Amino acid sequence: MTTHSKSPVVGIDLGGTKALAGVVEANGTVRSRVYLPSRDLKGRPSELLDRIAEGAGTAASEADLPFNAIQAVGLCVPGPLDRTRSVVAMAPNLGWIDLAVREQLERRLPGKSVFLENDVRAAALGEHRLGAGRGYSSMLAVFVGSGVGGGMVVDGELFHGDHGGAGEIGHMVVRAGGPRCGCGRAGCLEAMAARDAVGRYVIADVARGHKTLLTDILQGDLLAFTSRDLAQAVAQHDAVAIRAARRSARYTGLAIGSVVNLVDPAIVVVGGGIAEALGQPYVGWAAEIARRQILSSARDVPIVPSQLRDDAGLLGAALTAFAGQDGN
Ligand SMILES: [Zn+2]
Repeated sequence: MTTHSKSPVVGIDLGGTKALAGVVEANGTVRSRVYLPSRDLKGRPSELLDRIAEGAGTAASEADLPFNAIQAVGLCVPGPLDRTRSVVAMAPNLGWIDLAVREQLERRLPGKSVFLENDVRAAALGEHRLGAGRGYSSMLAVFVGSGVGGGMVVDGELFHGDHGGAGEIGHMVVRAGGPRCGCGRAGCLEAMAARDAVGRYVIADVARGHKTLLTDILQGDLLAFTSRDLAQAVAQHDAVAIRAARRSARYTGLAIGSVVNLVDPAIVVVGGGIAEALGQPYVGWAAEIARRQILSSARDVPIVPSQLRDDAGLLGAALTAFAGQDGN
């Protein structure tokens, strides 16, 4: 890696509600942060790409840099890419299907190279280079929030697989014949561990007559609860909340154990809204289950919380641009 001598890039973390654009230096220093709405332009890709291109320029001026000092832009998107990482195959939150984002953004940003990455894979890259996975040659990252996603680093580089889909740990089946997943299949980790699943565990427990603080917090609408509500209830030793959170962690741990046996990473990083709101207890519960599955040679693999949190996407997008310039 020769990134230390590189000029800064613009990273853009694009989500279904908003985008965050910022100038990032090769050492991970964020020099500017510009928030752009995205929800109002759902299904209007051309206008949203106009706004993103303009936002890249604003990020440079907020960092007191002339825009021509920026040679590369990294963008992470909430959806799968094609195998060349030039086209966003599908981003339901943005209303995008088969959109040639790389080409369309480069047309709006003359002289700059644009590099794309899936948001979860970008977050994994960020954790590997600048977060909890720093210094390890290989890593598995798992993010548990409103969905479950992951990413793998092999020999120091993000592993994309032959079709670009590597790292989709959320759609590993952890319970045969289990509940329906957003992907249309049944019993995926996402259907057993993501926020909606935790909400279902709480509802089922309440239906069995158990009392929970979450009923007050949510005034009856249990599926509307946030990761923070859950964390708050767990911190107050709410038995229903703890059971629900542990159940999510159990399935996350089962999936981690299986993947560790398969690929033997040097470290496992656990993040995402649910895991981060609950912190070390969640990671500890998942690790305990995982270690029961892991064969003896890899049983001591570190299983640790993520570190980058809200900046994971922005930093991952910027690192995608740096890696792209290196030809990776
Ligand atoms: Zn699924």
